[in-house]
Amino acid sequence: MRPQPLYQTRSDLLELEADVVDARPGMVLLDQVIAFPGGGGQLPDRAVLHWDGGAAAITGVEAAAGGWWHAFEGEAEVAGPVRVTVDAGFRRLMAELHTLAHIANSIVYQAFDGALLTGAQLSADGTFRLDFDLPASDVERLRALSGPINEVIRADLPIRAFQMPWDDANAVPGLFRSRSVSPPRQDDGNVRIVEIGDIDRQGCGGTHLKSTGEARPVRILKVDNKGRQNRRIRVGFEG
Ligand SMILES: [Zn+2]
Repeated sequence: MRPQPLYQTRSDLLELEADVVDARPGMVLLDQVIAFPGGGGQLPDRAVLHWDGGAAAITGVEAAAGGWWHAFEGEAEVAGPVRVTVDAGFRRLMAELHTLAHIANSIVYQAFDGALLTGAQLSADGTFRLDFDLPASDVERLRALSGPINEVIRADLPIRAFQMPWDDANAVPGLFRSRSVSPPRQDDGNVRIVEIGDIDRQGCGGTHLKSTGEARPVRILKVDNKGRQNRRIRVGFEG
């Protein structure tokens, strides 16, 4: 059974020394992973594989029996000890946007009577969009969301993650907040729950800040109608 990935348990770890467990041209299997593979609307980490005599950008990470395959640019055949490094600035931005997406999602869920998320995408340009299952009449209220989001940032609430059996979590209303995607069921049958102070709990495999006060204040850039029951908000930083 694979251990829990280090990008979840040690999100501060941006450098990993590992031994190659298995290899193919342009790919190595490692028994641990610090690079977030992408998923749930969060972009993959920007990471580099270093080996004795070379280095290449990692192009994909995929869970497999015995670990995680790391695909990298080129066709090198790599053996022995390697090092993986993760771009700290990009990870920080993704963790910040991801945390803000949880906050926005939880406020909408509470303010709009359990409205579900139908889509989420973080962007490298420092914005993110969320789609909600909401009628058109709610557009004006969505425009005012920045106020309550920024209040949560000012309150500097702690963020933590814990494990829970997937089936139990699936039975609790509100823990699985997305209409389309369920958070990943781990090898051990658990799911990771991310908690923000006492305002939000939801299943999630991504990376987050340690407290809401680490995030910069936001503004709502745009609210769009995307179909009869779908409202899309784009959120960016103030100033
Ligand atoms: Zn998350």
